[in-house]
Amino acid sequence: MPYRDRTTPEPVQCPCGHGRDHYMVSAEAEYRVLGYIQLAFGISARPTKVKYRCRRCDTVFATTKDPAVLDKHY
Ligand SMILES: [Zn+2]
Repeated sequence: MPYRDRTTPEPVQCPCGHGRDHYMVSAEAEYRVLGYIQLAFGISARPTKVKYRCRRCDTVFATTKDPAVLDKHY
């Protein structure tokens, strides 16, 4: 059996089976402290991490630091 490529994103789901793109799942940006201060002053800040939370079971089942995803939440 070939070794699984760890860079390949696996289909991740919360316990109720919602994937990242499900409408009940919201992506929450997480910022450094400086980022929150910038946001408070109305300056857009680049998040350091994006968390995927299911709004039904309130589970954060995935996080990403993918720059392409972070840019979407800039
Ligand atoms: Zn869920």
